[in-house]
Amino acid sequence: MESLHKWNTNKEIGYLKEYLQIESVHPNPNYDGCIAFLKKQADMLNLPINIHYPLNKDNPIVILTWIGLEPELPAILLNSHMDVVPVFSDRWTHPPFGAEMDEDGRIFARGSQDMKSVGMQYLSAIRYLKTNGAVFKRTIHLSFVADEEMGGRYGMRPFVNTPEFRALNIGFSLDEGMASPTDEIPVFNGERSVWRLYFRISGTAGHGSLLLKNTAGEKLKTILNKMMQLREESEDRLKRNPELTLGDVTSINLTRVSGGVQSNVIPPQMVACFDCRLALDVNHTEFEAKLKKFCEEAGGGIDIEYEHKLPRVEPTKMNDSNPYWTSFKTAIDKLNLKIKPQIFNGGTDSRYIRGLGIPAIGFSPLNNTPILLHDNDEFIFADNFLKGIDIYVHIITNLANTPATKVN
Ligand code: ZN
Repeated sequence: MESLHKWNTNKEIGYLKEYLQIESVHPNPNYDGCIAFLKKQADMLNLPINIHYPLNKDNPIVILTWIGLEPELPAILLNSHMDVVPVFSDRWTHPPFGAEMDEDGRIFARGSQDMKSVGMQYLSAIRYLKTNGAVFKRTIHLSFVADEEMGGRYGMRPFVNTPEFRALNIGFSLDEGMASPTDEIPVFNGERSVWRLYFRISGTAGHGSLLLKNTAGEKLKTILNKMMQLREESEDRLKRNPELTLGDVTSINLTRVSGGVQSNVIPPQMVACFDCRLALDVNHTEFEAKLKKFCEEAGGGIDIEYEHKLPRVEPTKMNDSNPYWTSFKTAIDKLNLKIKPQIFNGGTDSRYIRGLGIPAIGFSPLNNTPILLHDNDEFIFADNFLKGIDIYVHIITNLANTPATKVN
């Protein structure tokens, strides 16, 4: 009970709860509520706040800035997204926007892991550092962005191409990672390339009683077999090598099948959609050629239409050639944290930053916590939240003092 009292009276936990209670949930996220909250935070921290709208007035990007002693040096970006995914309230044991805490210090709310907690930890760490008179070489920008959960269509994706983004002069970015049920904290330095594609399969049409040649159904069978074969190869690679994680292999999933007009008519077309995430070791030209070959082997008359066909983005270097990594890793080692570098299996806004050639790392200090992003009863432990603030105090201190080199 003593710790419950401690958590309940902690002002940083109070701010976290306040932020979690704002219903910035799709499809109509309350960004105005977030802006009002962040303006209050900026006032308290005595930091300038700027709001940009890269594509439309409904999707803001909020930037708080702490100018460094050498503002001409590239700055550190602490990025988080304000939006959260929808909830199925009846499956939750606590109201999803109540931010209620139980006796074990679990704070339940949508966004408690993904990723309002991290956004608030950045602010709490900055508050601690400012209060204690810290000063840094490099400027620190904190960005709170919209629309990440929808792929950043109106948020980071257009923002990185604006003069306002360029003016921030970012040298390195921190963004979200993922919770981990063990002691180890995953650290993400890259993402796979999303390819979402439709096979439009044409074939001989006719009466459902016949045995016609080259029907769409037969061709669909071949395409399915070949794609599933690729899927099995990835599964096998994962099984054979315990060092690999999902982000290291290509994932392939059949997500939609459509076609047909009537149950006794062989249709002229069938469509199969696959969600593919290409691993970083995949040659895109060769992969595309393989898909085309499948179409020929299935009998031809098949077109591939791409809904997404994202290029390969070079992962961020995790060695001494990247001075920001050295700063990050030195803080991690000092804190005795166990990390596991890997490729993210999903997508985050970091891909747009890395796409510009700016190094970016995904990291959420949420170890010993079940992975509940996008799930029911998403929660964060109060103690973990507070420990995370201390972790960011060290990481931010090191990053913002990263020595200047010729390249950065
Ligand atoms: Zn997220």
